[in-house]
Amino acid sequence: MYLKICKFGGTSMAEKSSILKVKDIVRGDLSRRFVVVSAPGKRFSGDIKITDQLYSCFEQKQKTGSCKQVFEKIRQRYIEIVRELKVDIEIESYLDQVEREIDQSITPDFAASRGEYLCALIMSKVIGYEFVDAAEIIKFDAQGIFDAGKTYEAVKGRLSIEKGAIIPGFYGALPDGTIKTFTRGGSDFTGAIIAKGVMADLYENWTDVDGFMTADPRVVDNPRHIEVLSFEELRELSYMGASVLHPESTFPLNDTKIPINIKNTFNPSDKGTLILKNIDGYNQPIVTGIAGKAGFTSIFIRKAMMNSEIGFCRRVLSVLEEHWVSLEHMPTGIDSMCLIIPDDSLSCGKEFALMEAIRKEVNPDHIYISKSLSLIAVVGHGMTNQIGTSAKVFTALANANINVKMIDQGSSEMNIIIGVETSDANRAIQAIYNAYFG
Ligand code: ASP
Repeated sequence: MYLKICKFGGTSMAEKSSILKVKDIVRGDLSRRFVVVSAPGKRFSGDIKITDQLYSCFEQKQKTGSCKQVFEKIRQRYIEIVRELKVDIEIESYLDQVEREIDQSITPDFAASRGEYLCALIMSKVIGYEFVDAAEIIKFDAQGIFDAGKTYEAVKGRLSIEKGAIIPGFYGALPDGTIKTFTRGGSDFTGAIIAKGVMADLYENWTDVDGFMTADPRVVDNPRHIEVLSFEELRELSYMGASVLHPESTFPLNDTKIPINIKNTFNPSDKGTLILKNIDGYNQPIVTGIAGKAGFTSIFIRKAMMNSEIGFCRRVLSVLEEHWVSLEHMPTGIDSMCLIIPDDSLSCGKEFALMEAIRKEVNPDHIYISKSLSLIAVVGHGMTNQIGTSAKVFTALANANINVKMIDQGSSEMNIIIGVETSDANRAIQAIYNAYFG
């Protein structure tokens, strides 16, 4: 039997009308046997996601000993969903238990995970599939590292095609049963794990857009839609800001042939975006997509004869490691190098300590720091061995009068990373977009 895993995101779970659409989608296709759900997300702009409210619950409980006040809003939201859908479930008693357990919990993970847990309980009744708690099948080791071996064994042993299952996304359990979550948006990861565990034919990831766009629609008017994307392209684009899918969601599927299909719950007849490990044989445009991310700092280091000083780069990098600073890119010249660092790695003025330590370590002639850098990724397998791609990108930037502060081309030749002032970033994306798709 052809088997699909479906994961539905927060907007699909937000309220009665979207949940009824989910019900139709799942019930309308018998191959949709396993369904992973997120917690209810935003219903309108300015609304707060249940997951965010649950983190606030934990904070409130830490401060005052009880999460009651914040939990009340969550309580009302679930009660409303159950009442409107007329679901036969004792939701109040589940809510009482969750509130009590949050008050006793010692990490935020437990609180955060309850959004998915409660939502899956409700969806199990709505769809008529068995509720299978992620804590039973998604396993972490005692250090909190995802335990693939134990997880796949548990998934195979626990899920039954006959019954179908609704599984809460985002979390699993340590060997002692303590709940642990993935990073935010981690239900995408849960869906991929289940897809691999049951050897599905397809992983459908249902969201609120028709798939990936060639650029962010908030930056470019009506960007074109991407029909087919490779795992590598997806990783590059999502890491660099295309927020449709968690950047790590393909990892569990890397050694399988399971494709991912991004679909829109609110427009289910659209084909969406198909994401494949290997896109050979598909029509590949030169540039598949353009994404941008703000929030980087560059540290520029110059020293005469740097290239012949053995161990120079290693010593600079060891300073980063000692200061627990992560490095994004490191373009180098003969006598200079540049460290591109995400701002969130440089909290509380860490950059000054870092520069001082680099000065001591390698005694540069010159070192300076520049803030408010944005990185733009131009991504596409079609660029490989294609003459003129960079020329076209940089001509477009020059014509738009944009100063390029950094260039880095990945060794796979499938991405060009360009650093520009954050104030120029949107114009830069528009200029490159127009050059390729305009
Ligand atoms: N609800 C979680 C979040 O908002 C996980 C998820 O939706 O994937 O990040």
